[in-house]
Amino acid sequence: MNRRNFLTSLAVLAPTTIFPNGVGFGQSSRSKTKAKNSDAMIVSDVQMLELRARDSDKKSLYIKIITKSGVEGLYGPIDLAAAVQVDHFFAKRLIGFDALAHEAYWDKMIRASRHSRGSHYSLGLSAVDNALWDLKGRYFDVPVYKLLGGARTRLRAYGSCLGYSQEPDDLKAKVQELKAEGYRHQKWFLNKRGPKAGPEGVEQDAETMRLLREAAGDDMEIMIDASWKWDLQYALAWARKVEQYNPWWIEEPFQSLNIDSFIELSRNTSIPVATGEHFYNRWDAHNFLKRDAIRVVQADPEWCGGITETMKICNIASVHGAHVIPHGHSIHAAMHIVASQPEELCPLVEYLIRKMSGDYYYFEKEIPAPKNAFFELSDRPGFGIEFETSKIEDIKQVHWDKNEA
Ligand SMILES: [Mg+2]
Repeated sequence: MNRRNFLTSLAVLAPTTIFPNGVGFGQSSRSKTKAKNSDAMIVSDVQMLELRARDSDKKSLYIKIITKSGVEGLYGPIDLAAAVQVDHFFAKRLIGFDALAHEAYWDKMIRASRHSRGSHYSLGLSAVDNALWDLKGRYFDVPVYKLLGGARTRLRAYGSCLGYSQEPDDLKAKVQELKAEGYRHQKWFLNKRGPKAGPEGVEQDAETMRLLREAAGDDMEIMIDASWKWDLQYALAWARKVEQYNPWWIEEPFQSLNIDSFIELSRNTSIPVATGEHFYNRWDAHNFLKRDAIRVVQADPEWCGGITETMKICNIASVHGAHVIPHGHSIHAAMHIVASQPEELCPLVEYLIRKMSGDYYYFEKEIPAPKNAFFELSDRPGFGIEFETSKIEDIKQVHWDKNEA
C-alpha cells in the first residue's frame, strides 16, 4: 500500500509544540477546560500520527483526538488496517461530535455503513473509541479503569509463549523459567501441524502437551492455542489424548466462523474451549455463549469495537458464567478492561512475551510489562500513554489515498 505522508503546516505537529515544556502528550485536564462551555468538548480534529525513531527505522501509528477546549485523547500503537479506516471514514464523522458521547458515536457508526459488521470497520471504530476513552480519562483526570468503575490495580498476567522453541529441552527450560518468574499460567501454540499431518500430527501435538505438563508440574495452568489450524476430527482426537494432562483451555482450533465445530468440540471434551479474538461486536460473542460453544471469550478491545463494546461483551459473558480474557496483541485497553471487572469474570491479562518485551511500545515512557507475572496499573489519567521524546526523530500526520488503500 502506498502512502501519502505530509507534515501539515500547522505548528501543532512540531515536537516543541506537542511536548510543551517537556510535558507529555495530551496532558490537558478538566481544570484547563471551560467545562461550562457547551462547545468545549466538541471534537475539532482527528489525526493519525506516524512516529519515527531517532536511532532506527522503527515507526508506529497513534490516533489523536483534539477537542475545542484543548483536551486530547491518544491511543496506539494502531494497526495500519485500523488507521486507514479512521483516516477514510471515522475521522470526519467524529469532528463536530461531543467527545464525551462515546455511546452515541458508537451507535451512530454501527448504523453509518451497511458493512459495519466487518472486521476492518470494527478495527477503525475500536481505535476511535479507545482514544475517546483516553480523552475522557484526561478530562476527568482519572485512569480509564476508574471511569469504568473498577478498583483493581494489580492484575495477574499469563505468559503467552508465541515464537519459543518447542524442542523438548528448550520447552522444559522456558516453562520452568517462567514458572520461577511467577507465572501461574502459560499458553503455548500448537499451530504447525493440523489435519495434513494426520494421526502422527495428533500424536506429536499430544506429546507436546505431555511435555508441558511434565515440565510445569501440577501447580500451573497450561493453555493451548491452535491458531485455527485444526479441524473437528483432529481437535477431538487431540482432546481425547490430552484430557489427562488437564489443559486449562484449547483456543481457536477452528476459524470462529465455524461455530458448529466449536459446539461439537465443547460437547465432547471436558477441556474448556476458547475463542473471540476475531469477534467484532457483542453479537458475535452472544452467538457463541448462548449456544454453549465456548467457556472463555477472548475479545480484543482493539478489534471488537473498543472499550465500549468490550464492556458489553463482559456483561453478556457474566450472565453465561464464562471468562473474558482479552486477546493481547496490544494491552493498554485490555488491562483497563480487566481492572474494571471482577477477577471471577476477568482473571488474567495476556502478555505476549516476545512481542511486548521487544520494541512494540518503543515510543512510550512507561512500557506496560508485568513484574513477577503481575501488572501494576498507574494513576495516570486515561491509559497513561506518554511519549519518550528523546526517542522520536519526528511526528507526521499521515493520510492514505483512497484509491490506493
Ligand atoms: Mg489466539
